[in-house]
Amino acid sequence: MPDRILIAGAGIGGLAAALALAESGSRVTVFEAHDGLGEMGAGLQLSANAVKALRLMGLEDAVAARASRPEAVELRLPKSGRLVSRVELGARHEAKFGAPYFHIHRADLHGVLAEAADAHPGIQVVTGARVARVTHGKNQVGVELEGGAETSGDILIGADGIHSVVREGVAGRDEPVFTGMMAWRACVPLKGDSVPPVATVWMGRGRHLVTYPLHHRGVMNLVGVVERRDWQEESWTSEGTPEAMRADFGGWHRSVDTLLERLERPWRWALFERHPLSVWSAGRVALLGDACHAMPPFLAQGAAMALEDAVALARCLKARPEDVSHALRDYGAARHERTAKMQGASWANAWRFHLESGWLRTVVYGALGLASRIAPGQPGKMFDWVYAYDPAKA
Ligand SMILES: Cc1cc2nc3c(=O)[nH]c(=O)nc-3n(C[C@H](O)[C@H](O)[C@H](O)COP(=O)(O)OP(=O)(O)OC[C@H]3O[C@@H](n4cnc5c(N)ncnc54)[C@H](O)[C@@H]3O)c2cc1C
Repeated sequence: MPDRILIAGAGIGGLAAALALAESGSRVTVFEAHDGLGEMGAGLQLSANAVKALRLMGLEDAVAARASRPEAVELRLPKSGRLVSRVELGARHEAKFGAPYFHIHRADLHGVLAEAADAHPGIQVVTGARVARVTHGKNQVGVELEGGAETSGDILIGADGIHSVVREGVAGRDEPVFTGMMAWRACVPLKGDSVPPVATVWMGRGRHLVTYPLHHRGVMNLVGVVERRDWQEESWTSEGTPEAMRADFGGWHRSVDTLLERLERPWRWALFERHPLSVWSAGRVALLGDACHAMPPFLAQGAAMALEDAVALARCLKARPEDVSHALRDYGAARHERTAKMQGASWANAWRFHLESGWLRTVVYGALGLASRIAPGQPGKMFDWVYAYDPAKA
């Protein structure tokens, strides 16, 4: 294993990588651009494949203690609320795929990772440290931080998100690509309502809204996606107004209206992605998470892919400790196909959730409903390959 590993970015991907790599005995330094560690107030779905990665890091129980366990995901029509299809999660998901399905607040997952990193003697997280430049060397990789401080390590992992600085040295200069959609995010109080642990996808024309409770926090999580090309500010922290979000989803089913009435501070941003890369590393530098394969959120797998990347990276370095550039190439080769397929599958879900034409909605949602009634396990089957993946064995 390389002795000294540098990581750019202490998001979910960077911290997971630090934990997976330090477990094999490396000394890991994580540079985080922000002054403190934190995550925005929004929910995150973690399916069995992601939970299996967390299990390998010894974090499944800590995450479970802060998570809800959804029983199912339901697809519904937005105005009538009619059920189109239901995929069972809960005990069925766990029995079939070897780990539970969780809903968790992003800050809670990030907090579990940050606490574990803080407690690990092999990990140092430096905040207020933005990686500005990378120097690729034969025996070392050099990093210059904003402000001029310099350091070097045996390898550098770019987990610095969709606007990655590290990416340029691996993939050349390219820009994130606008998806033509924007997302709303908000958490609203449950106010003591007894809400079943179910995720609902409300499928409108050219837009959809996902709602699920985060019982640990006493809130309902809302993620609304709208096809719109007139606003392209990619940011985690752009505040919208409750009125503007209500205008996008108003007049839908009364249970949606009730949630929208409780909106206080919805956040919004344009959705960007990165086209799949076939080469993930250059010499001693490799990419991980959104820095490599940022994808639209319609399959809820972006963070899951970052967690899987972290485990795969540690396994490849352990398998070839004497040749790190080769090990990093192995890592990219092991991950490229799955993450590219995930990006494509995510787009297919956007199509399903946003159908515009009336006859297409009747045909597609009618067929989905029929399949659900005839063979209740069938509709979710097309995603077995997503959840069955075991990062310990792949
Ligand atoms: C609306 C929406 C809903 C989603 N829902 C889900 C879901 O349910 N399930 C799921 O699995 N995924 C989901 N995702 C995807 C998921 O949020 C991302 O894929 C995941 O957060 C990526 O983690 P990351 O660590 O790679 O990147 P980031 O979270 O972007 O972290 C990057 C970190 O690097 C830091 N950084 C940036 N530049 C530098 C630099 N130059 N030097 C040092 N530090 C730097 C940043 O400050 C940040 O802390 C969703 C995404 C969206 C937009």
